[in-house]
Amino acid sequence: MKKFTHAWLAFMAIKRLEETNLSETDRRYANKLIRWFKNHKDDVTQGAWYPDSVIKDMANSHVLKLTPSDEAENKFKRLPSSYLNYRYGKKSPLKKKSFLIEKSDNLPDRCESIAQSVIDGLKMQEEEDKGSPVSPTDNQIALLLFMLSHYIADAHMPFHCDSRRFSEGKDLHGYIEGKWDDMIRRYYLIDEDNERFFYNPKGYPLRDSSIDQEYQSSVLKTVDDELHDRKFIKSWGAKNSNVWDFMSAICQYSYLLSYRFIPEQYDHTNVTLTNWQSLGLISFDDFSVAVLSDAIDSIARVWFRVWRRYLKWERKQRAKK
Ligand SMILES: [Zn+2]
Repeated sequence: MKKFTHAWLAFMAIKRLEETNLSETDRRYANKLIRWFKNHKDDVTQGAWYPDSVIKDMANSHVLKLTPSDEAENKFKRLPSSYLNYRYGKKSPLKKKSFLIEKSDNLPDRCESIAQSVIDGLKMQEEEDKGSPVSPTDNQIALLLFMLSHYIADAHMPFHCDSRRFSEGKDLHGYIEGKWDDMIRRYYLIDEDNERFFYNPKGYPLRDSSIDQEYQSSVLKTVDDELHDRKFIKSWGAKNSNVWDFMSAICQYSYLLSYRFIPEQYDHTNVTLTNWQSLGLISFDDFSVAVLSDAIDSIARVWFRVWRRYLKWERKQRAKK
């Protein structure tokens, strides 16, 4: 995905946590994260783009490419039932087949390791005095958190989880990501000089009110409605017990969604920029709503769980003292 898409998804994940119903304890945990995020919001665009602009580990860490296979013995995991990609994926004929995973790809590992680093960093900060040479700064932790959202979002782009080569030929991969970014740039006001969004009074990206009527029938409005009606489930889903399990499951259902949009008999050699929208069992709008709303839900879930783990640890530490 592209720069402002990544930044927008991160903001929407926080907005989701702010607006959803939570138990009293979870609300306290979430509010600490929300406050923390808002203090660092000017750096989201740059931070969430860092994996593409500086780290550049796209070839293996932004992807987990799957290929249908009768011989493999990989099994599909499960996701929280509210996920659109899960609902679409369950109906897919490929769900009955196994799949191969590209050996060198490691997106779920990358997410797990950054999540651990964020928790470690917060713990170190808590233990060390201000200015201690081993203590990470707030900015360093914020950067890791925003980078984490990048890798989570990438897992939701179905072509990042499909071994067919859609970045070649007509580059349908880049073309679709460009469409999403254009959409966000169209409906939101961007402070180009400072590489960030302008904000509304609540600290979220400011929408262009002069095209509000058009926005009301847009994919972005549908995403907002979808999440508004979707219960926030903090569980990783079924037997998944950590970020790695959860992100592996996300990649599996992204792969199924990719085939729902571009069926098996197609690849980069016969998908063109004229036929691409009419091949599969799902419209481009529905495909986009599934990708964007599930990505927001996942970033919210992973961030919340990371923060909650740190705060639970902190509470225990304080009880000891
Ligand atoms: Zn990426």
